[in-house]
Parts: sequence; C-alpha cells; structure tokens
Amino acid sequence: MSHPLNFAVFGHPIAHSLSPQIHQAFARQFGIALEYRAIDAAPEEFADAVKRFFDGEDSRGANVTLPHKSAAFALADERTQAATRAGTANVLTHLANGRLSAHNTDGAALVRDLTDRHDLDLRGHDALLLGAGGAARAVAWSLFEAGVQTLTIVNRSPEAADSLADAIGEPARVHTRYWEDLANIGSFDLIVNATSAGTLGQSLSLPFTLLGSRATCYDLGYGKSAFGFVAWARAAGARYAYDGLGMLVEQAADTFELWHGKRPDSEPVYQALRAQSS
Ligand code: NDP
Repeated sequence: MSHPLNFAVFGHPIAHSLSPQIHQAFARQFGIALEYRAIDAAPEEFADAVKRFFDGEDSRGANVTLPHKSAAFALADERTQAATRAGTANVLTHLANGRLSAHNTDGAALVRDLTDRHDLDLRGHDALLLGAGGAARAVAWSLFEAGVQTLTIVNRSPEAADSLADAIGEPARVHTRYWEDLANIGSFDLIVNATSAGTLGQSLSLPFTLLGSRATCYDLGYGKSAFGFVAWARAAGARYAYDGLGMLVEQAADTFELWHGKRPDSEPVYQALRAQSS
C-alpha cells in the first residue's frame, strides 16, 4: 500500500498555524491524501529538524514561517528568483535529485489577494510599505512589478529600507523615508503594514495624514495581530482595510500548485477561515 506524501510547516511557535488546515482543504478538492504536520523547532534546532523531515522518503515539501524564513533560504541548495529577491523562503521543496529548493510565494500572494479578491487595480497607486523585513522584501518587489506608481518604504531601522530600495534600483519610483518623518511625507493610496509589531503585541503610532482620499490599508498579519492596524485604518477613514488572511490562503495556493501541479480553488477555503475567525 502506498503511503500518503508528507508535508509540514516549521515555525516557533507553530500551534496557531492554519497551514495544515488550508493544505488539507486544498487536497480534498482533488481527492489527494497527504500528511501535513506543524513542526515546532527552536532556531538552534531548525536545520536538524528540516534534515530529519526530508530524510523521510515520502517527504516532499515544507512551509516555513517565523522565525525561520532566512535560515530556510540559507540552507537550501537552489533558490528561485522570488526567494533570492526576498532573501527569505517560505517554501522548501524536495527536488527529484535530492536537493532542496527555496521559494517565496508571499509577494505574489499579497498582490493576488489585492487585485483578484479585493478587485484593486494597483497601477498608478502611490504605495507606502511599513517594514523592511523578510515579508516586506518579498512584497516590495511584487508591488513594484504590479505597477504601483511610487513605492515609499519606511522602516524603524532605516538601513534595511535603504538596502531594499537599492536592490530594486528604481529611484524614480522606489524610495525611502524615515519613520520619524511619517507625519510629513504626505498621503498614499495604499498602505501596507509589513511590520511584525502586531504579532509581537506592540502598537504602531501612525498619523491619519498618511491616508489619501481613496486609501486602501492592508496588514500582513491576521486575527488578533491585525486588529490594531485595521482599527487605525478605519478610524483614519480608509476606503478599505484588510488583514492578511487572504494573503495567507493565496501563498498556500501557490505552494500547493508548486508541489502537486494542480491549482486549488482558494475562495471557499478563504471564506471558511473568515467565517471561523469571526
Ligand atoms: P521580520 O522579523 O523579518 O521583520 C519584522 C519587521 O517589522 C522589521 O521591518 C522590523 O523593523 C519591523 N518591526 C517590528 N516591530 C516593530 C515595531 N514595534 N515598530 C515598527 N517596526 C517594527 O518579519 P517578517 O517580515 O517575516 O513578517 C512581518 C509580518 O508579516 C509578521 O507579522 C508576519 O506574521 C506577517 N506575514 C504574514 C504573511 C501572510 O501570509 N499573511 C506572510 C508573511 C508574513 P526593524 O528592521 O527595525 O527591526
């Protein structure tokens, strides 16, 4: 009898992860039997835990979440362009030759959530990106390629924002400003919160002047961690304020297609999770 294929998500902590539920729901759409485990690994145990997992003969792929995305990128044998640009990986895939490939589906997932699910045409938008960590780096490239008119990157530590803008290398469209100047940098059509402040239980102090008249606000976090930013956006008069649940489902859909060669229907899974969280 053949064994189901094995997949996993690595994180620390990981008990909260919705990835097992999302991948199982996608698998049911195609009648695929799979194991998908959540594996808690402390940073110092991560490399060994990944090796043990992929040593299993039926282990095909793993998602990676905080705090391991940089380590996953570093330990892979091959890296896609999306992973290289972000410098982080949320997907590790066991290739037929036994090597591990690192990929990053976060940036494309945010853009698809905004454009397909929320019907936003990003072209011509002046966008503000808060944060310059792993997720922000993935998202910055994708927003740029989706055609935003300008992308302003603001990070608490300015060096990380500068190095991200330099990497994209389009100074006429992509530039940085200091966090301390947020009250003086004008207004934006799209504000993306890619900081981990909400996840860490910290709040951001942001001026209402950041919102243009048609502003859409988006927090990469979801559930409780997005409450503060979404509440701020609504109070500031945002036209739309979204959390990152849709992005989470879309990055999983891209990962599922990469591993199984089949495109899942993400909408019913998104709707079920949305209903579950309200
Ligand atoms: P990183 O740890 O790589 O980066 C964290 C970023 O947040 C840095 O830019 C850091 O600034 C900034 N930051 C942290 N605390 C504060 C604060 N109090 N005030 C201002 N800035 C702060 O994390 P990731 O980039 O991997 O993840 C960021 C968020 O995105 C997390 O909440 C994560 O859960 C979420 N995420 C959601 C996804 C989804 O599918 N919905 C996918 C990926 C991520 P500094 O450089 O100064 O330290």
